[in-house]
Amino acid sequence: MSDAAWPAPPQGPCALPPRLEVEVAILGAGIHGAALARELTLRGVSCALVDRGEVGGGTSQWSSQLLHGGIRYMLTGDIRQMREGLAERATWARIAPRRCRWEAFWMPHRSRLEGLAHRVGIGLYDFWGSERPGWPADLRLGRVSRPDFLIDPRATLGPFRGATAYADLMTWDRDLTKDLAASSEALLLDFHEAERFDQGSDGLKLLHLVDRRDGSLRQLAARRWVFALGPWTDGAMARWFGESRKRLRLSAGVHLWFDAVPGCERPWAIRRPKGRILFVIPRDGMLQVGTTEREVEDGWVPILKAEREELLDALEANLPILPWREMPVQAEELGVRPLVAARGATTHLSREAVLERHSQFRNLTLVLGGKLTTARALMDRLATDLTGRPCDASRTAPLRLWDGQPAQIR
Ligand SMILES: Cc1cc2nc3c(=O)[nH]c(=O)nc-3n(C[C@H](O)[C@H](O)[C@H](O)COP(=O)(O)OP(=O)(O)OC[C@H]3O[C@@H](n4cnc5c(N)ncnc54)[C@H](O)[C@@H]3O)c2cc1C
Repeated sequence: MSDAAWPAPPQGPCALPPRLEVEVAILGAGIHGAALARELTLRGVSCALVDRGEVGGGTSQWSSQLLHGGIRYMLTGDIRQMREGLAERATWARIAPRRCRWEAFWMPHRSRLEGLAHRVGIGLYDFWGSERPGWPADLRLGRVSRPDFLIDPRATLGPFRGATAYADLMTWDRDLTKDLAASSEALLLDFHEAERFDQGSDGLKLLHLVDRRDGSLRQLAARRWVFALGPWTDGAMARWFGESRKRLRLSAGVHLWFDAVPGCERPWAIRRPKGRILFVIPRDGMLQVGTTEREVEDGWVPILKAEREELLDALEANLPILPWREMPVQAEELGVRPLVAARGATTHLSREAVLERHSQFRNLTLVLGGKLTTARALMDRLATDLTGRPCDASRTAPLRLWDGQPAQIR
C-alpha cells in the first residue's frame, strides 16, 4: 500500500481523550462502516468509527453513484440480487430523499428485435421496481417516442434506432456516506492509523492508534469489532495479523467527466459486449461517463492510458456525433471494487456481500464485497446479529444531512 496515496490529515489537534471505550469498534468509514454506525445508534449501542482517512474517502466516493437493481443483472440472470437492489432503492428514496434523484435512463437499441427484447426486460425491471417514493410525474418510462429520441444529439449518426426508458435512482455517494455517519452518535476517529491490537482469550480487546494529525497516541477498547475496509481488507489483515489468505478480488473502474453537452438531458445506459453497460449521465452540470473493469492488487492504483482509451473508443463507436477526443476531460476518477473472491473474470463475479465471522477472533466480523445500494440492508442485518435487536426504524428514519444543507436538485 502506498502511503503517499492516503490524503493528508487536516491541521489542528484532535480533542479526544487518550483512552476510549465502546461496545462496537468499526474500522473503515465507507458506506458500510457509516451505515453500521447509524444502525447501532438506532439500537442505542455505543460505537466508534475509525478511518485512516476521512469519512467516505475510499471507494464510496468513486462509484457510478447509482442506487439500483442493476439492469445488467437482467442480462446475467442474477434476478434475486436485482430484486433486492430494487427493494433497497425504494428505502433510500424514503430515508435520504435529498441525496436521491429519480431518473428515466434510456437504453438505446440497434435493431427492432433488440428494442423488443429491451422492452420486455425493462418492463419486468420496472414492474419489480414499481415502488418508487417521490417519483416525478413528468418522467416517462417505456418506449421513447421517435421525436423525443431524435432531439437528443446522441441519437444522430450512431448505430441506434430508438430507446426504451427505465427507472433508477441517482445519488451523491460521498454525501450519502457522510449523512449516514452524521446520523449516528459514533465516536469519530478519522485520520487515525491503527498500529496494533491487544488480544484476549476470546478475541480482540484493544486497538492502539496514532492520530495522523499530531502523532498523539490513543487506545480504543471494544467488546465487538467490525472491519469494513473495502478493498484494503486483505492488506490490513496481512499487516495486522500476518494473514495471507485473499478474501477479495479487486476490480478497478474508471469514470471520465466532460462538460455538459446541450441536449443530452437523460442518462443513457448503452449495452456493450460481455454484458457491460456504458453509462453516459448528465449530472451536476457535467457529463459522467463510465465505467471499466480491470483486476488490480491494491485499493490505490493509477488510471492507465488503456482505460481512458477503452472509454473513448466505446464513446466513439456508440455516440460518434460528439468529438470525444477533442472534448476536455474535466476530471477522471478511479475506484476499486471489493469483490468476494471466486474463480473467473471479475466482470462475472457477484457483487454480493459476505459477513465473515473471523475464525480466530470470534468477536470480529469482516464485511466483504457489497454495493452502495445494499449497504444499509446488510448493516441492518449485521447490527441485528451483533445486538440481538431488530430495528424497523432503519427503513424509515430520515438521514441527517452532514452539512446541514439540503442537496441541490441537480
Ligand atoms: C467504479 C465503481 C462503480 C461503482 N458503482 C456502484 C453503483 O453505481 N452502485 C452501487 O451500489 N455500488 C457501486 N459500486 C460499489 C460500491 O462503490 C462499493 O461496493 C462500496 O462503496 C464499498 O464500500 P465500503 O464501505 O465497503 O468500502 P470503502 O468505501 O472503500 O471504505 C473503506 C474505508 O476503509 C478505510 N481504510 C482502509 N484502510 C484502513 C486502515 N488500515 N485503517 C482504517 N481505515 C482504513 C478507507 O479509508 C475507506 O474509507 C461501484 C464501485 C466502483 C469501484
